Amino acid sequence: MQGICLLGATGSIGQSTLDIIEQHPDKFTLVSASADKSVDKMVDIYHRFKPQRIVMGSELACNEVAARCQGASVSFEWGEQALDSIAADPNVNQVMAAIMGFAGLKPTLAGIRAGKRILLANKESLVTAGKLFMDEVALHNAVLLPIDSEHNAIFQSLPQNHAGAHTADVSKILLTASGGPFRSWPLDDMTSVTPVQACKHPNWSMGQKISIDSASLMNKGLELIEACWLFNVTPDDVDVVIHPESIIHSMVSYKDGSVIAQMGNPDMKVPIAYGMTWPKRIETQVPPLDLIEISRLNFEAPDLERFPNLRLAAEAWYLGGTAMAVLNAANEVAVAAFLNEKISFLDIAKLNEYVLTHSDIRPVNCLDDVFEADKMARQLANNVLVDGDFA
Ligand code: NAD
Ligand code: MG
Repeated sequence: MQGICLLGATGSIGQSTLDIIEQHPDKFTLVSASADKSVDKMVDIYHRFKPQRIVMGSELACNEVAARCQGASVSFEWGEQALDSIAADPNVNQVMAAIMGFAGLKPTLAGIRAGKRILLANKESLVTAGKLFMDEVALHNAVLLPIDSEHNAIFQSLPQNHAGAHTADVSKILLTASGGPFRSWPLDDMTSVTPVQACKHPNWSMGQKISIDSASLMNKGLELIEACWLFNVTPDDVDVVIHPESIIHSMVSYKDGSVIAQMGNPDMKVPIAYGMTWPKRIETQVPPLDLIEISRLNFEAPDLERFPNLRLAAEAWYLGGTAMAVLNAANEVAVAAFLNEKISFLDIAKLNEYVLTHSDIRPVNCLDDVFEADKMARQLANNVLVDGDFA
């Protein structure tokens, strides 16, 4: 029986994880669950799973959940320390890191330091803390398994000794991208897109922030950096391939000319279940792939003119140090501003570029360096948002 700590239980990844737990009650038990504000969803989770510990983002949300779960033998907690504590809890074997954004970094690290199996959906934590994050994984013998569908696919397509892409016979990682809802839109039309249009992903149903990131290709930029840290490569070793059907979830190209791909219907339950049972597999109730029905798979090159975020991500990687935390912070501010209709869709990449090029990029020696860079970049982004001087 594997005890699961589910960070971000009320989100899209959280709900898919609960689905797998519910399908396999003989294998998994929900020990703890966290959410920021979603009281209704957390009350529902309590009634379905009876976890031992529930953590909310605020005292108010915590009290509301507690009031609606009367008589329960569960501890209701709130705040950052409680999040770290559930991730390190001795009853937990696996931590699903599915909080949105930089807020996921600390509790994910708490799980790593307690030597848990880390199911990493929260790509922003690895993107921002990078080498520090990977060093902590090694130091504490944690098992880090990528849940992001592309990285899960790469992981499945690499040689099973998993010595990292460099030491194997690998020539390239082929990171696939759907291209998002504006893949074939002319630049002029992209100036006036609304948050509702940008959130409508053609193939995947996801949280708001990652949906916007997918539309702006910042998600692929973050995933490029994520792949570099996970598989010990550089952006030059990774080709981004636009594949609008999202059936191939990514590929590994070998030096003998072989290409190994992982395929399946686009449903996060597949990579989630693989992470939870690796190296074994279990049923997920995801329908089998019908290639005759799909009949065609298409591929094209990404357009860096219309989607500069992908270029910015590679630049941030080569700048190194705090650059990736800076870019991520700018993007979190930009996406929130776009969702609140304060800036246009194309302004997201402009704000990101402004903050990346106007920030003081420093080496990362400790976690405080990452938090300081995140704070400064958010300040700068918010300041120029007010002036409007970034575009
Ligand atoms: P979501 O917005 O649907 O859910 C986010 C969860 O995190 C919610 O439970 C929310 O309450 C919690 N949360 C948000 N802000 C928080 C904060 N400041 N402190 C504590 N908790 C907070 O997001 P999602 O789509 O499930 O994505 C979660 C993570 O997984 C992201 O990092 C995303 O990039 C990654 N991911 C998601 C998908 C997907 O298909 N949804 C695929 C790959 C990777
Ligand atoms: Mg992905």
